[in-house]
Amino acid sequence: MLAENLKHVEERILKACERAGRSRDEVTLIAVSKTKPVEMLQEAYDLGVRVFGENKPQEMRDKMPQLPQDIRWHMIGHLQRNKIKYIIGKAEMIHSVDSLKLAEAISQEAEKHGRTIPVLIEVNVAGEESKFGVSPGETEELIRRIAPLPGLTVRGLMTIAPYVEDQELNRPVFRELRKLSVDIASKNIDNVCMCELSMGMTGDYETAIEEGATFVRVGTGIFGARSYDI
Ligand SMILES: *Cc1c(COP(=O)(O)O)cnc(C)c1O
Repeated sequence: MLAENLKHVEERILKACERAGRSRDEVTLIAVSKTKPVEMLQEAYDLGVRVFGENKPQEMRDKMPQLPQDIRWHMIGHLQRNKIKYIIGKAEMIHSVDSLKLAEAISQEAEKHGRTIPVLIEVNVAGEESKFGVSPGETEELIRRIAPLPGLTVRGLMTIAPYVEDQELNRPVFRELRKLSVDIASKNIDNVCMCELSMGMTGDYETAIEEGATFVRVGTGIFGARSYDI
């Protein structure tokens, strides 16, 4: 099942890149493995997957030592400040920074470890009440405050688009994130690069790629449905 799923996702990524006139290597597929057992991650690894995404710090920390060392781990979920210690020096990137307080806590923990961690700013483009993320209008100001902090560097923006049946409906969301990133890039803020756009999940990654995603986060489409009662 995993092999077929991966092949299917890979084909669709490639086609979306072709439609958008983009090169396949501009897009990194993050295999979102939350709630899945390490055996399944190992199977994906054996099929060539090297980039995994988790949304809980402890789960990431617990899985890491059970799997090959060359895996690149991305923290994609909402982070509580007291959990940062589990992933600093281990996660390659944190996709979900949405407040100055969280950024300051990451900065402090990273400094303790003598690290600089790349982060993305999570933007709640669609303004959904249930979602974390800073509003588009407040994003630049937040980035200006985070930029001077040691121990982290802002590398771009991330969004979680609404759940939709027809991914076309999320195109305006992805467009807006991209436009925001271009606007902020034009301000040339020190220590800030708008290099990455983390957008697109199982239901909408093709549209996200057409609109400029550099990271797509695909869980269900690779590993199958999740049961949350484990
Ligand atoms: C779970 C999760 C995903 C993957 O969702 P799927 O719909 O299963 O592809 C992507 N991004 C974030 C932040 C998630 O928490």
